[in-house]
Amino acid sequence: MHPNDALTKYFRLTPVQLSGLKKLGLLTVRQLLYHFPVRYDQGGMDSAITGLVAGASVTIFGTISKLDTRRSWKRRIPVGEAVITDSSGSIKIMWFHQPYLAKKFSEGQFVKAVGTVGGKGGKPYLANPHVEAADPVEAGLFSSPESSKLKAESSLFAVYPESRGVTSLWFRHALDKVFAANILDPMQDPIPAEIVKRYNLPPLANALLYIHKPDELKHAEAARKRFAFEEIFAIQIARARERAENDSQASFPMKDGDALAEKFLATIPFPPTVAQRRAIADILADFGKLHPMARLLEGDVGSGKTLVAAASAYAVVNSRPPNRTSGTLQVAYMAPTEILAAQHFQSFIEYFEHLPINIALMTGSGCKKFPSKVDRDGATDISRAQLLKWVAGGEIAMLVGTHALIQKSVKFQHLAYAIVDEQHRFGTKQRRALAHKGDAAPHFLSMTATPIPRTLSLTIYGDLDISLLDELPPGRAKITTEIVSPSSRASAYERVREQLKAGRQAFVICPRIEEPDPAKINALQAKSAKAEAQRLQKDVFPEYRIGLLHGGVKPQEKDRVMAQFAAHKIDILVATSVVEVGINVPNATVMLIEGAERFGLAQLHQLRGRIMRSSYRPYCFLLPDTKSDISLKRLRALAGTDDGFKLAEADLEARGAGDLFGRKQWGVSDLGMEALKNVKLIRAAREEAQALIAKDSTLSNYPALAARVESAGQELHGE
Ligand code: ADP
Ligand code: MG
Repeated sequence: MHPNDALTKYFRLTPVQLSGLKKLGLLTVRQLLYHFPVRYDQGGMDSAITGLVAGASVTIFGTISKLDTRRSWKRRIPVGEAVITDSSGSIKIMWFHQPYLAKKFSEGQFVKAVGTVGGKGGKPYLANPHVEAADPVEAGLFSSPESSKLKAESSLFAVYPESRGVTSLWFRHALDKVFAANILDPMQDPIPAEIVKRYNLPPLANALLYIHKPDELKHAEAARKRFAFEEIFAIQIARARERAENDSQASFPMKDGDALAEKFLATIPFPPTVAQRRAIADILADFGKLHPMARLLEGDVGSGKTLVAAASAYAVVNSRPPNRTSGTLQVAYMAPTEILAAQHFQSFIEYFEHLPINIALMTGSGCKKFPSKVDRDGATDISRAQLLKWVAGGEIAMLVGTHALIQKSVKFQHLAYAIVDEQHRFGTKQRRALAHKGDAAPHFLSMTATPIPRTLSLTIYGDLDISLLDELPPGRAKITTEIVSPSSRASAYERVREQLKAGRQAFVICPRIEEPDPAKINALQAKSAKAEAQRLQKDVFPEYRIGLLHGGVKPQEKDRVMAQFAAHKIDILVATSVVEVGINVPNATVMLIEGAERFGLAQLHQLRGRIMRSSYRPYCFLLPDTKSDISLKRLRALAGTDDGFKLAEADLEARGAGDLFGRKQWGVSDLGMEALKNVKLIRAAREEAQALIAKDSTLSNYPALAARVESAGQELHGE
C-alpha cells in the first residue's frame, strides 16, 4: 500500500460511500491519513440497557444475538444488525453501510459495545457502535475504581467529520487496515528533521498513530499540535515563496511620490488622520524600491482606506513611464461588486477631476469613461472594445472595475499599481497576469476591512507587509448598539419605524444557521430570510417596501436588489450575512440582527459597519435567541467597543477560531485554526519558513515538504 494510492484499490465502497468520501475530499490513502478526528470519545459510563435514552454515550457489556444483514427498506442502505442483551434488557445494534460487521461475531458471544444511543421515542438503538469481544469476568471487575481508570485509558474513540455512508466507525476500521499495511514506512516527514527536533514535535509516523489511535489524550494533543504546526508551516512556506518571487521582479520605481502625495492632500477638504498619513508614507517608501510593493492595508469600515488609495494612486498617475516624455503610469482598482466599483469610480472622479487624466470603469455590465467628450463634467458609456484599446494604448490612467479587470483581454501599457479591495486572495500569479510579459510588475495594495486576529493575518497574508488604519476620522456619529430582550421586540420595531419615518432605511439580518452540510446551508438560509421578509411585510411594516437578499440569489439579481436599495426604492432590506462586504448606502442607519448570538463578534461588527456610512446617528439592535450569560456577555462586548480588530481577538479567545467565520473562508483547516491562539507557534512557523526559503527557494532538498505545500495550495484554491 502506498500513500498516493486510491482508496478504491483497498476498500470495497458502495456508491453512497464513494460520494461521501468525495464530499469530504478523500480520494487517496494519504488524504485518509490526514482526515483528522474532531474529538475523542471516552465511551460512556458502563450502562444498563434498560432506561437508555437517545443521545447518551454508553458502554454496554452483554451477549450479542440475532446477527443479520439486510437493506433498510426506505433508503436501501446495507445494514448490519444485532441485539445486545444484559441482565436488565436488550437493545438493537445497527451498523449502517457496514453490514459485514454482523458477520464478525457469533450468536451468544459476550461483547463490549461502545457508542451512542440513537432512535426516537420508544425505539432506541445503538448506532454504529464499536463492538469487541469481551471477557465476562473482566467486565465484572469494572466496578472497582482501579479498573475503571484502566478502562478509560484504553478506550478512546476517534470521532471524525462524517458524511453519508462514512461514519466514524468506518474511518476507524479503514485506518486500522491502513496502519496494518505498514503504511508509515514509505511516508516521509514533510517537516525538515532539524525543525522537528528543534520544537520537540512528534515525527510524522508517531503523530499519525497518536492522532488516530491515541492511548492517552495527551498523545493526541501532541499530535494535533504537530499537524497544526505542519499546516501553518506549509502555508507560510507558500507565502514566503510568493514573497521571494515578488522580490525577484522589477518594479516601476517612482521618485517624487512624497511631494506628489502632499500636493494631493492639499486638495482635500479635511486633514488626513495620523494613521492615514503613516499608511501613505509606507506605500510611497515602497514605490521608491526596485521590486514591487506587496502590502496589505487593514482598516476598519470607515477608517478612510479610499483616501490612502487615492493619494498613492495620485503619485502614480502623475509619473511618467520610464524613458518617455509623455503619458503616465497606470493604476488598476478592483472592487468586489459592480456597485462598489461604480461608487469608487465616482470617488476617483471627484478626487482627480482637476487633473488632465482619463479615468474609466469596466464591469460585466458596461464601461464608462471620464471625462466625456460631450459633457466635460460627466462620464459617458463607451464600448468595451474601445476601452480595451485605450487601456492598452496607455490613454486611461486609472481603470476601476470588478473581476472583469483581470481577464486576459485586458492589457495595460504601463500598469504600475494594482489596488484590490476586499479580495481575500490575490496571489502573485494573478498580479502578474495584470502586467505585460517581460514588463515590470505592478506595485500591489490589498485593502481589507475584515477584522481578523493578528495571528490569522500573519498566516494568510504572510507574503504581504501590513499597514494598519487604527483610527477613525473625527466627527463620526457614535453608533448605539442595544441588546433587545424578547419582550421588547415590539418597541425595537417602533424605533426602527421612527427612523423609517424620518426618511432613513433599515437592514434586518437573519440568523446564521448551523448546518454541517454546506450543500444545504444556502437553501435553509434562504428559507428563513424569505419567511422573515414575508412576516415583516404582513404583520409589522405593511406600509414599507421590503427587499430580500440571500446567498442563493444570483449575482445579477443581487446587484439589482442592492441598486434598488441604494436608490431608496426599498426601505427595509431583509438579508442574510451576505451584506457584510463593503456596500455603501449612507441613508441606511438602522440594523436589526436576529439570532445575534450565532454570529462571531467580528462579523457582527462588520455587519453594523453597513450603517455607519454617514453623519446620521446609527442604531443597531441585537435580538438574541438565548438568555445564556456567556452569549449576552459577548454581545455586551460588542456594545462596548468600536474596534473591530479588538473584537476579533476577543472572539478568538472566547470561542475558538473555528467559529470565527464560515469554516473554509480562509483556506485554513479547523485544526490549523486552533493553532491561531498560539502566537508563539505562528511566529515560529513563519520564521522557520522564511529562513528555509531564503536558503532553498525551490525546496529542491525538501521534496516531501514541496509536495505538502502543493497539496495545501490545492485545498486553498480548490474550493
Ligand atoms: P473605508 O476604509 O471603509 O473604505 P472610506 O474610504 O469609504 O472608508 O471613507 C469613509 C468616509 O470617510 C468617506 O466619506 C471619506 O470621505 C471620509 N474620510 C476619509 N478620510 C477622512 C478624514 N481624514 N477626515 C474626515 N473624513 C474622512
Ligand atoms: Mg472601502
